[in-house]
This record gives sequence, C-alpha cells and structure tokens, in this order.
Amino acid sequence: MSHHRLQSITLIAMAMAACTHPASTPQSEPDAGDDGWGASEDGDGGDWGPTTTPSPWNYIAGADYGIRWDDNGEGPFRTDRGGGLHGGVDFLMPRGTPLYAPCDGKYLAGYDDNGYGNWTQIVCPVPDQISRNDIFFASILFGHLDSSAILGHGQVKKGQLIGMSGKSGNAAAAMINPHLHFEIVIHDTEQEALNELHLKGDETGTGRIAQFFIDLRETCLTPTGLASNRKIDLGNRVDPFVLLACLTSDKPSIRRPDFQDHWYKWSSEYQAKTFDVNVGQQFGP
Ligand SMILES: [Zn+2]
Repeated sequence: MSHHRLQSITLIAMAMAACTHPASTPQSEPDAGDDGWGASEDGDGGDWGPTTTPSPWNYIAGADYGIRWDDNGEGPFRTDRGGGLHGGVDFLMPRGTPLYAPCDGKYLAGYDDNGYGNWTQIVCPVPDQISRNDIFFASILFGHLDSSAILGHGQVKKGQLIGMSGKSGNAAAAMINPHLHFEIVIHDTEQEALNELHLKGDETGTGRIAQFFIDLRETCLTPTGLASNRKIDLGNRVDPFVLLACLTSDKPSIRRPDFQDHWYKWSSEYQAKTFDVNVGQQFGP
C-alpha cells in the first residue's frame, strides 16, 4: 500500500525541487526556549502547555467525539491491522469537522487513494515541556480529510485551518465511521521528520527515540500517572493521544456523536491519576 504514498511524496518532492520558494530550505534548529509548539511569533499565547487562551486541543479539532470503533476496525494506537499495528489513533468525528495545526511548522499535503486519502503532514519541534533540553521533531499526520485547506508544501501557523475531516482514501467504505487518522512520529532532525512517510506497518525505531520516551515518562507520565492499556510506543511512533494529553489543557468535553452508536470514551483506553482523560489536563492556577 506504500506505493501510492511514495508516488505522492515523489510528486511533492518534484514540486519542491521545481519551486524556488525558500520554504523548502531546512531551518536551523530552534533554541531550547523557542519551539514551534509554544507561543507563535506574534505572541498570541496559545500553546500545548499551560495557557488560558485559546484551547490548544481545539487546534486539532473543535470538538471531541472520542475513539472510532466500528465493524471495520478499532481506533486506538497499536490495534491489529492485517499483520501490522495501527500507527495512529482514529479520532471519531463527523465529516466536515474543521482541523487545525497544533504548532508552527512546515507542512506537506497530498492525496493517496488507497491509503490516507487527503493527508497533511506537519513537522514542528517537540516542546521543552516534554523534551527538556533535548531536541526532537514531530511529524504529525492528519489522514482521510474530505478537503484540504493547505496544498502542496510550505509553512503553517499554529491554529491555522488545515482542512475538513472525512472519509477519503481507504476510509471511504460505508462501514467505516468518519474519523481523523492522527499519527505522530518522532525524529532527531527537522529534515528526517519531513522525510517521514508514515508508512503503515513501519515499526522501525531509530536515533535517540529511547531518550524521547525517557523524557516523556519523567516530564509527564510519572507526574500525572497517565497510562494506556497498551504500549505507547511503536518504533519511532508515540501514541498521539498520550502526547496530546501531556501537552494540552482545556480539552473540549467529550460528546456522543449522533451519527453512530460505536462511540468510546478515552477512559476506555487511558487512565491518569491527576486528571480525567475525558476532560483533559487543567493547567494554571
Ligand atoms: Zn487510523
């Protein structure tokens, strides 16, 4: 199934090669105090960490409908998918739910008929809040969009609309509930993260990924008691719900969708000692 994805990447690479826009030039690594997931350059303040405005979870989607679970597959991280393990989490949501960039970074967007459908990949640094003085970059994939608001490649700003959720690619079958396939792969450098193909079944672990999980455990998992019923790593992948829960506050309340019965709360998969995983962490005073 990787073939079409590779074709898409090839086309993007060709487009990038033909484009003289400086967006395709790798940036220098950010200093530890100014990562792309924090306040944007214009100082609007919202980020994945302690914040009062606006809710960073809302930069992913404006509403929370829990985990997709239907006759064609379960939605959690590491569920069995035909010989491989699910590399992301399927966020259940009605078609047309707006999706937002969670951080300032670079993006690639394309289409894969047999896989992720309309997809957008955003690359930005992992916040210090998680990685302390270590530098990691996250490649964040949004899949199965009905429509994309940003095309080709370029720079994206935190909070920018990237598209509408849907059922494109291999989620088009009627039995599959509309959902966002959301996946995060961790890399050492921005370029490696941009090169990430998000191939299904790729469970390769490279670089300093072990250090990332040490940092994640010490900065978030142990202090909050956040845990999953499953393992939270898969090669260079991290369970994206776990990383979101570590970085976001003021998550919208989970609501039962009116379009299907197959509805599961986050608490069916995750637990935490210091917060309700269905409500999210509450930072600040
Ligand atoms: Zn998925």
